[in-house]
Amino acid sequence: MIKTLVTGGGGFLGSHLCDRLIKDGADVLCVDNFFTGSKQNIAHLIGEPYFELMRHDVTFPLYVEVDRIFNLACPASPIHYQFDPVQTTKTSVHGAINMLGLAKRVKARIFQASTSEVYGDPEIHPQQESYWGRVNPIGPRACYDEGKRCAETLFFDYYRQHGLDIKVVRIFNTYGPRMHPNDGRVVSNFIVQALKGEDITIYGDGQQTRSFCYVDDMIEGFVRMMNSDDGFTGPVNMGNPGEFTMLELAERVLRLTGSKSKLAFHPLPTDDPKQRQPDISLARENLGWEPKVSLEDGLKETVAYFRKTLNV
Ligand code: NAD
Ligand code: UDP
Ligand code: UDP
Repeated sequence: MIKTLVTGGGGFLGSHLCDRLIKDGADVLCVDNFFTGSKQNIAHLIGEPYFELMRHDVTFPLYVEVDRIFNLACPASPIHYQFDPVQTTKTSVHGAINMLGLAKRVKARIFQASTSEVYGDPEIHPQQESYWGRVNPIGPRACYDEGKRCAETLFFDYYRQHGLDIKVVRIFNTYGPRMHPNDGRVVSNFIVQALKGEDITIYGDGQQTRSFCYVDDMIEGFVRMMNSDDGFTGPVNMGNPGEFTMLELAERVLRLTGSKSKLAFHPLPTDDPKQRQPDISLARENLGWEPKVSLEDGLKETVAYFRKTLNV
């Protein structure tokens, strides 16, 4: 059995990944400090013979014996990563150093959950992997964006300097069941607000765009990347190229929930990117991967999840 470490395994994406790996017959070690993740996300896996949970902060060294590492540990929503920005940078940078040091010692293949945020507020649209990005290095989002950029630098230096087997994915906005209801990301905010009959909070004029990928598609992409040919390091974009304004997203959520909530306009946060859409040609060509779930179908699943968990 392939011994697989998942850091951030108690989070939204990490818990879905643990599910998939267990289903595929891996021996999974889930490491999390539960800063934003929750034991509820993985409670159903406790008791599985090949699932093991360890509370640990990746900014500290970790000595375990594994064959593969998925490095997902890092708060992902702006309110969470800006809550303790120094810790956010440490998690990305020290976390990457520790996991790369571990991968080097045990000769494990290592996957990095990078982000579309490395492109910042982009001047190139849609974004290709060759684009270097436009990030404000001292703004409130920098702890996340620059932390993730530095982690990519470390991955590529360990690859060049120590011959590590690396796999780097730049994840674009992903949503689905097990998103934290209060993490402030737009999909969970709108659905929770609609279901509770509260105002839908549109930041700015709502004309900014994002491209939303359903979690199952993203996890399939992770697995394909991890299993891809030696030497295909990435970085590779993963996301759904369907692009929507926040106003369009709000309209869809209102329709799917049958909610009477009103739109309320709030100031746009500093450095909020105006547009974002992945060019996924590289993933298509190298991994035969593309998203299958439409925004409509993915939102239906997510609404059903929040209805159940919020009991509304
Ligand atoms: P999440 O907040 O649900 O999951 C992150 C997990 O990491 C949580 O369980 C948290 O407790 C854990 N964690 C945080 N700091 C840690 C530390 N120091 N040590 C150990 N564990 C720690 O977020 P998510 O959406 O599941 O994101 C997972 C990964 O994917 C992150 O690296 C994120 O940057 C990346 N990503 C996600 C998206 C998205 O749209 N969901 C987009 C781009 C990148
Ligand atoms: N490390 C770890 N687990 C291991 C091996 C290393 O957490 O199994 C950490 C260790 O704390 C070290 C870091 O990874 O600081 C980087 O390791 P590397 O071997 O690259 O560098 P060095 O040990 O020389 O600092
Ligand atoms: N947003 C919004 N209302 C909310 C939460 C977010 O209009 O209640 C906007 C936010 O300003 C951004 C977009 O939705 O333009 C996506 O925000 P999110 O935090 O989900 O992801 P990111 O900005 O990191 O892509």
